[in-house]
Amino acid sequence: MVIGVLAMQGAYEEHINILQDLDVSPVEIRNKNDLQNIDGIIIPGGESTTMGKLIRTLDIYDDLKEKIESGMPVWGTCAGMILLAKSICNDDTVHLGTMDIEVKRNAYGRQLGSFNTKSNVKGIGEDIEMVFIRAPYIENVDDNVEVLSVVDNNIVAAKENNMLVTSFHPELTSDYRVHKYFLKMVEENNKGS
Ligand code: GLN
Repeated sequence: MVIGVLAMQGAYEEHINILQDLDVSPVEIRNKNDLQNIDGIIIPGGESTTMGKLIRTLDIYDDLKEKIESGMPVWGTCAGMILLAKSICNDDTVHLGTMDIEVKRNAYGRQLGSFNTKSNVKGIGEDIEMVFIRAPYIENVDDNVEVLSVVDNNIVAAKENNMLVTSFHPELTSDYRVHKYFLKMVEENNKGS
């Protein structure tokens, strides 16, 4: 199983390290050729505006969107979730726009910019470690989106078919359960194809 990690900017090395710990071969995605042989992709946290611009400038946008739309598993953490959202309620930009969610950027404001908590994620486990850094949350979901976790009345994890998103950063913790869950999504998709 080959997992790509979008490696333009942000917290991609942490994902790579965890994938290696889990005996998976990660590929750093920096141009569209890197997308060719992957079975799934992680879009990391970072700065969504910058990442959104870079995937266009580096000509990754079309191929990546096409792969996601044809069912390749993708997991967006934090800024990665913003990149996948069909709409951003406090920003006019739409990046990949493949997932039927509306997100709010920097949703926790300045005072609560960064915080840690533990909460349950449906299908993944209880007391998952959650690190939020200037995080978005999901304001609205369409019917086809499954809400996986709600913290303080805000949706912080969701899934729609091949797309998984988390507001928080599991790659900054030693709790690998979300990574393992994503790898299972990829494995099942490989079996089906
Ligand atoms: N605040 C960032 C954005 O809006 C996301 C933060 C993160 O990925 N940790 O793009």
